[in-house]
Amino acid sequence: MKCDPNPYRAPPPSLAVKPRLIRHLFLPPLIIALMIGLGYVGFWLSEHYGIRSLSENGQRQLELHARAVESEISKYTYLPSLLELESSVSQLLADPTPEHRQTVNDYLEGLNRRSRSRAIYVMDTTGRVMATSNWRDVDSYLGEDLSFRAYFQNAVRGQPGRFYGIGSTNGEPGYYLAHGLEEHGKIIGVAVVKVRLEAMEERWQRARLEAFVSDENGIIILSSDPARRLKSVVPLSDETKEKLARSLQYYWFPLNELQPLARETLSEGVEKLTFPANSELDSDKENISYLAQTRPLSDTPWNFTLLTPLQDLRREAINQGVLVAVAFALVAFLLIAWNERRKVISTRLAAREALQEANNQLERRITERTVDLRASNERLKGQIRERRQAEETLRRAQDELVQAGKLAAIGQMSTSIAHELNQPLAALRTLSGNTVRFLERGQLDVASTNLKTINELIDRMGRITASLRSFARRGDDKGQAGLGKAVEAALQLLGGRVENAHLQVHHHFDDVQLQIDQTRLEQILVNLMGNALDAMQAQPQPELWLEGEVFEGKYRLRVRDNGHGIDAEARKHLFEPFFTTKPGEQGLGLGLTLSASLAAATGGHLGVEHPASGGTAFVLSLPLVSPTPAEPI
Ligand code: ADP
Repeated sequence: MKCDPNPYRAPPPSLAVKPRLIRHLFLPPLIIALMIGLGYVGFWLSEHYGIRSLSENGQRQLELHARAVESEISKYTYLPSLLELESSVSQLLADPTPEHRQTVNDYLEGLNRRSRSRAIYVMDTTGRVMATSNWRDVDSYLGEDLSFRAYFQNAVRGQPGRFYGIGSTNGEPGYYLAHGLEEHGKIIGVAVVKVRLEAMEERWQRARLEAFVSDENGIIILSSDPARRLKSVVPLSDETKEKLARSLQYYWFPLNELQPLARETLSEGVEKLTFPANSELDSDKENISYLAQTRPLSDTPWNFTLLTPLQDLRREAINQGVLVAVAFALVAFLLIAWNERRKVISTRLAAREALQEANNQLERRITERTVDLRASNERLKGQIRERRQAEETLRRAQDELVQAGKLAAIGQMSTSIAHELNQPLAALRTLSGNTVRFLERGQLDVASTNLKTINELIDRMGRITASLRSFARRGDDKGQAGLGKAVEAALQLLGGRVENAHLQVHHHFDDVQLQIDQTRLEQILVNLMGNALDAMQAQPQPELWLEGEVFEGKYRLRVRDNGHGIDAEARKHLFEPFFTTKPGEQGLGLGLTLSASLAAATGGHLGVEHPASGGTAFVLSLPLVSPTPAEPI
């Protein structure tokens, strides 16, 4: 494997920056901080715009209800001035007799009933009540000195007297409207109408409206919530408190301040007030916030304040804030998920690229190896070719050697051959010379006999040379032979002799293919069977066994007879050329020598065994064409 010349080296651990770790450490707190921050912004914006919207809506409500209050108050403004027109009133003031008083009392009673006011009464210029609509009541104002009342003091000076106060007689709150009664340009008395405004409070309560009216002293005189009544909306100094107490305007009620927990001025006449949870004003446990919108009421120094609860708005704003935080968390989560997915994809891509690179490297290596293999294959082919050539050369050399061996054998035999041929030749010379002389003498019978002998001698010489020629012949050492066919052919050639001898042949071999020329195998078998027949001439029941077996890649055929066997002396010379024990012309002594040479030429062998049971067994070993034996015969 090839090595990268510039391998990647990781930085030392102490210097390595771990952005992933930093991200994992800081990201969650950052997201949480952003969630809280954005949630708060969402809450703040929602509350801010909600208050603005509420404020706009409240402004309309404020206007509507303030006008209602104004109209309620102004309804009675004219009433005290009406008494100026009533002559009985001026008569009473001029002459306060019991009759005049009673007349006016009755008149005022009737007027009061019709106008639905609380009380109407007339005072003289000293502030004493001269006549009153409630003259029948036990707590009637009749004869009371009300000169300390501010409305009287204003009216007696000719100014309109407007006053909210709590009745000093019965402690009942009311709105007092006073008017100085003039006669001939001179004030002779004061007419007062007391009105109850609680009906408005009831209306507000029915409409579930939270509102109050504060007077010129900042004291709440009308309120939808009774608990707020007679509380001061502005801080009161001790001096003011003392002054108010002395005036008995609010009877003996303690004037506590309505102090909110928090007060925030949003705009002109618009405030945000928060009252404590455990305040006596609220049964709830929560701090309660209001949007307070205040508007002055015309013709009076009073202010009308409308309170709009902010709980719903606050709850809505909290929901919005939570929604923003959750939305942000969702977006952050999606972004993180997207980022993680992107990283996973890029990691996968990198892995795929690495895999591709590894694949490419592998392919390159395979290609290199293939080239190497091809080269070594070519080398091997070359070596095979060379080896074949060498084998061919060797085989040729072997052939040459065999041939040379044969020729050498013939060379060795040449002395014997010469001897073998010289004898008949000498005999021929003698016989032919004798025959000529016998012919000259006319002894034709003798000549004829000699000629026959000459023929026989020539035949013998022909057989010797034919055997040697076939032995010396080149090129027939190759080829294939079927054993069965060869045995059949040999028995056929020896047909007459086999029949005459009544030979019993036992076939115990396979029809194998052997690496030898067919004719040569037949020649060997004819030699071996012929010798066996010769050896069994004296045997009354001649038997021949042909037994085959595969042995060490060769086929071994044993040709056994029950003949006379071979004596010890003959055994030493069996394979020597021209060794024979056969008498006269019967044996040439070349059969075994040539057979052994032919077997050896194919890589085989011819040997002899001498069975203890008698007879002789020649063992012919020849190479097989196919290593598997064929069907037995
Ligand atoms: P030839 O048959 O012409 O004698 P061979 O070389 O074939 O020459 O045989 C040489 C000798 O071997 C024979 O003369 C014989 O004495 C002996 N011989 C060969 N085969 C047998 C055999 N089957 N049984 C006994 N003797 C044998």
